[in-house]
Amino acid sequence: MDAQEKLSSLNDVLKYAKTSTFYAKRLPHLPLRTLADIKQIPITTKNDLRQHSPFGLLPNAAESLAQYHESSGTTGRPVAIWYSETDLDEISNQIATNGFKFKEKDIVLIRFPYALSTISHFIHQTVQKQNGCVVPADSRTTVTPMPKVIDLLQTLHVTVLACNSLQSIMLAEVAEMNNLNPKTDFPALRAIYTAGEPLTPFRRALIEDIWGVPVFDNYGMTEAGTIMVDCSFQQLHLFEECFHVEVLEDDLQTAVKDGDCGNLVVTTLRKRATPMIRYLTGDIVQVNHHPCSCGSGCSYQIRGRKDEMLTINTVRFDLYAIEKMISRLPARRFWTVGKWNNHLYLFIEKESDHDMVSNEYVETLKATFEIGLSILLLEKGTLYDRHESLSFGMKAKPRYYLTDQETESLLKQIINP
Ligand SMILES: [Zn+2]
Repeated sequence: MDAQEKLSSLNDVLKYAKTSTFYAKRLPHLPLRTLADIKQIPITTKNDLRQHSPFGLLPNAAESLAQYHESSGTTGRPVAIWYSETDLDEISNQIATNGFKFKEKDIVLIRFPYALSTISHFIHQTVQKQNGCVVPADSRTTVTPMPKVIDLLQTLHVTVLACNSLQSIMLAEVAEMNNLNPKTDFPALRAIYTAGEPLTPFRRALIEDIWGVPVFDNYGMTEAGTIMVDCSFQQLHLFEECFHVEVLEDDLQTAVKDGDCGNLVVTTLRKRATPMIRYLTGDIVQVNHHPCSCGSGCSYQIRGRKDEMLTINTVRFDLYAIEKMISRLPARRFWTVGKWNNHLYLFIEKESDHDMVSNEYVETLKATFEIGLSILLLEKGTLYDRHESLSFGMKAKPRYYLTDQETESLLKQIINP
């Protein structure tokens, strides 16, 4: 899609969006003359969406609505997102282009929440369109606790497991607790399909080590649908025809320099039932302009959530930076991180009794970042209780970052158990 075509799609969408009560006053005189003019439009925040939910973002001209979703996580009025039949059709066609391809006769176990959330439904539809079979093993119900999922994976010869990345590690742990080897006892499994949280290359490598199958990622959000999927070379590429993205400095005005990390801002280029115009996703991303072996000109690394990032002495630790440090340790599965008195603490559950962290490694990290830093190996079960396999599996969204108070209390618990 060249710049002129993109500008023309953008102007069409802006004209359409302007017929909603929310966008009516925010959008400038149209049409925009260049793509750069998009900067005249104010950034849309999650709070804007919340205040105008459930109907304020619907354009007059919207197609009939087919599906309703809510964006998760926050208190107060929920963020309402609607999808038309055309939207859903387009999203499932896009997901179908992912690098490992859903196939006829695939048996895909979907381990995402179904109620009000989008990704399970998107994948569900994609798999069925490709003539595959879905096993809807919702992650937030008591009907399918972890041991039941392990049983389904084995007895149904599931070929693809779709879940968030932490869930795939938890499932492996439960399989091992039942004396199964994730690598050899699930011979039908050919891929793991992740979504719902940023996937770093370090965690991808961990999951591939555990399960012995490739991991492919899907990046998107309730508000905009799937925005990028991994190609066969496991690089995230944008659906250029459907989205215009900006990667901005914290001032939300200036584009970052090539290769720098910045705030991802997304604009839908299709007439979605709920159009997103300059939506601040809350994710920090890095664009790689080296051509990918698949032929795509650039790929994206999602670095983590902006509001979770820890800052110590101006050094920022996003999910990527933290997992990079953890990737060199003998235990990498279950961890949490926090700061206390301007000191960074990595708390990591041991995987075996022999696990150790070398002083040399900690000293290297301290010197690299010029901060106080400790890596504390904890007994298995300190962060994630295995006794109740139900609650282990029912944990809601993964939480990797502790507040300062939680860090202090965990430190006290370790010192005086
Ligand atoms: Zn590629």
